[in-house]
Amino acid sequence: MIPFLDLKAPYEELKQEIDAAVARVVGSGWFIGGPEVDRFEAEFAAYCGAAHAIGLANGLDALHLALRAMDVGPGDEVIVPSNTYIATWLAVTQCGATPVPVEPDPRTFNIDPDRIEAAVTARTKVILPVHLYGQPADMDPIVAIAAKHGLKVLEDGAQSQGARYKGRRIGAHGDAVAWSFYPGKNLGAMGDAGAVTTNDPVIADRLRVLRNYGSRVKYVNEVQGYNSRLDPLQAAILSVKLPYLDEWNQRRAAVAARYSEALADTGLVLPVVPTWAEPAWHLYVIQTEDRDALQKTLGDAGVGTLIHYPIPPHRQAAYADLGLAEGAFPVSEAMHRRVLSLPMSPHMSADQVDGVIAACRAALAVGA
Ligand SMILES: *Cc1c(COP(=O)(O)O)cnc(C)c1O
Repeated sequence: MIPFLDLKAPYEELKQEIDAAVARVVGSGWFIGGPEVDRFEAEFAAYCGAAHAIGLANGLDALHLALRAMDVGPGDEVIVPSNTYIATWLAVTQCGATPVPVEPDPRTFNIDPDRIEAAVTARTKVILPVHLYGQPADMDPIVAIAAKHGLKVLEDGAQSQGARYKGRRIGAHGDAVAWSFYPGKNLGAMGDAGAVTTNDPVIADRLRVLRNYGSRVKYVNEVQGYNSRLDPLQAAILSVKLPYLDEWNQRRAAVAARYSEALADTGLVLPVVPTWAEPAWHLYVIQTEDRDALQKTLGDAGVGTLIHYPIPPHRQAAYADLGLAEGAFPVSEAMHRRVLSLPMSPHMSADQVDGVIAACRAALAVGA
């Protein structure tokens, strides 16, 4: 059996350090905010090359509160990819604003910059690209369009910790990046956790107030805020894991390189990496017309796979009110029918990688 992802493996690799960090927090008596959160924020900001990191409760809150900090509200529009995890859209609608979907480049899975300008209206406030599957979106044209129209850029970095765009890590290409440290992400906590990185001191200051009941001084509430604080236990665990992120991403890249080499002649559509991109390889996503059959055959052979994602946000019951019919976003809809994520993690053995490849080749009857 080769699982899609083994969440115990990262703990087993770092058990002593994680156990020591947990014991330190539990023994400190400091359970909200405090030195562990301050320390991880400083380390993560430095890692991302951003002036500020603000720890938050999860990735959805990071997106939502970053949009609030950018003054997004009812009547505003936010440009989002048509093919993303629903959290990207939920953050927009939680502000009372409207998501305006833009189709991806089907080769890279990321929002197609050439299609963005046609979606800009007088109500547009923010462009929200997602670095989907760990592939950096093409930020330079996106930032240029935003500058031309006076818009902000919020990046959804949930899947892209450590990815680089034109040599520079994701973290401050746009106005802010929202991060998730959900356990399965490249930098994963042992529960829910999130953050925003930014070079903008106003956004950073607003987020510190918003996450803490709208309060800067205890019992003085400037705005109607939220309770969305990064748990110090999670911060301490993230501080243990951060120094290993680059090495773990290299191990992911080695798995991806092996897949790309060994599956090149199978007829599967493999991920395309632009010359300027160094993906974090959160997922290794192949495309095929016979996706459901391939998934079943691999499953019967003991290889776990997942579909990211089976239903695009505009076809979810949650967004029926937007009235976006089947066929409204054909590029995205075709991708949702064709994508399949192979097992991907820094903790896969060479035998497991070989096993996935052999199972794919057997399923596609292309020989060993
Ligand atoms: C995981 C994820 C989120 C949400 O993060 P949570 O921490 O689960 O709230 C948002 N956007 C994308 C693209 C994600 O993959």
